[in-house]
Amino acid sequence: MAEATLQKPLTIRMHERDNVAIVANDGGLAPGTQFPSGLTLREHVPQGHKVALVDLPEGTPVLRYNVTIGYTLKNVRAGSWVHERLLKMPPARALDNLPIATVKPEPQPPLEGYTFEGYQNLDGSVGTRNILAITQTVQCVAGVTDFAVQRIKKELLPKFPNVDDVVALEHTYGCGVAIDAPDAIVPIRTLRNISLNPNFGGEVMVISLGCEKLQPERLLPPGTIPLVDERNVADVGENAEPPLDVVRLQDDRHVGFMSMIDSIMTRAEEHLERLNARRRETVPASELVVGVQCGGSDAFSGVTANPAVGFCTDLLVRAGATVMFSEVTEVRDGIDQLTSRATSPEVAEAMIKEMAWYDNYLEKGQVDRSANTTPGNKKGGLSNIVEKAMGSIVKSGSSPISGVLPPGERVSQKGLIFAATPASDFICGTLQLAAGMNLHVFTTGRGTPYGLAQVPVIKVATRSNLAKRWHDLMDVNAGTIATGEKTIEEVGWELFQFMLDVASGRKKTWAEQWKLHNALVLFNPAPVT
Ligand code: CA
Repeated sequence: MAEATLQKPLTIRMHERDNVAIVANDGGLAPGTQFPSGLTLREHVPQGHKVALVDLPEGTPVLRYNVTIGYTLKNVRAGSWVHERLLKMPPARALDNLPIATVKPEPQPPLEGYTFEGYQNLDGSVGTRNILAITQTVQCVAGVTDFAVQRIKKELLPKFPNVDDVVALEHTYGCGVAIDAPDAIVPIRTLRNISLNPNFGGEVMVISLGCEKLQPERLLPPGTIPLVDERNVADVGENAEPPLDVVRLQDDRHVGFMSMIDSIMTRAEEHLERLNARRRETVPASELVVGVQCGGSDAFSGVTANPAVGFCTDLLVRAGATVMFSEVTEVRDGIDQLTSRATSPEVAEAMIKEMAWYDNYLEKGQVDRSANTTPGNKKGGLSNIVEKAMGSIVKSGSSPISGVLPPGERVSQKGLIFAATPASDFICGTLQLAAGMNLHVFTTGRGTPYGLAQVPVIKVATRSNLAKRWHDLMDVNAGTIATGEKTIEEVGWELFQFMLDVASGRKKTWAEQWKLHNALVLFNPAPVT
């Protein structure tokens, strides 16, 4: 605290109507600290936490981002620390009488001339990495697949220098589940669409046990896999489909464990040969499909990293790319901002439908969106989900929202898309992979080493202190915005350029360098048996 008193006091207010501001100084500020406005701190306020700018009598709406994040539970004097125990959270905005497509932002000039080096796929998508992914129908085969993947990496991959990696798409679904329940379509289409992610070049190979509920033909029905190349057409004739490439462990021909491994390696080698023949080509930035997400958020998330990501989102949209923002519980409290930004009433209605579905899903578990916030969020200064949501939404920038994607579906549109997913980092990332994401941007304030094997993950720190401590985990430091060293626009452009470098394979993210890979986690709202 002695250190804190020596610093020039820095507070950040998001809107002129706000009656609280957050303390920006490392280590917070000591009691007695004087601000140029004449305000004096009555108590220690930790970094990222709120200070009352005026007296707030009991029942006063506390405004941050010009939004009521709560009502004071007792009289709070100017200069006091406004923490979550002093606030009563407002109820969620009802889903009727919302403003529908009322905001018509000035059309921004297109951003032309930006390109990256990517792998073009036959289905029109573009990969940023060249990876052999091995699909599994069921968790039962995970150990065998992993054994095979270790050997493929050691014995085969060195022969194919243009292939970046071999990745097993492990998951816990496939059997012991109510597969005919209506909501089972969510995990099934998620797995299907992940297998078709642009970074895998259309080289789908499947490991099946044999007796599982999720049979390979149910996971990948005829017509879902694009023809890989001309040879396939020649092999099977013009109008026939190439058979799905499946290794079934229970087949009679497998005698002993090693025969299963041999089968998998033989199949893998064919796919590796075709992947290895691919080369990067110059493509416009419009081929990027970016998923933005936050995790381990603090009060700076909505001040530094998320606004910089939002600025970059607008640049990407202007460049003709696809940008997905997600995390239903973290945008629920800003639904009116989103419906008003929809390009059409249909888009707004689709958004409301996803919110209503999720409200109902949470209600069945006897909770609401307030179940989202973590102890770390609160320690970082976020009093409740309303405050967290206002900071989370800004990742979406200011562009019009041109589409809504239900969980597990694949995106087919350009522009800014709301991809409805839970806010759980792993589930959101998994669903954005299914949507066809080829680049992932992840902001964090508390710090998380999150990474995925399937797609590069760019991590943006909200605070310089975190960026310094985790200097070999954080790719971009947005903390310079809080200290005034850089502007939101400068960090946004820095991120945009870094994205093109990472997408082209010219640069690797820290998570890629250390091979930090989190598990795929499927969203399964249906019952298990
Ligand atoms: Ca998240």
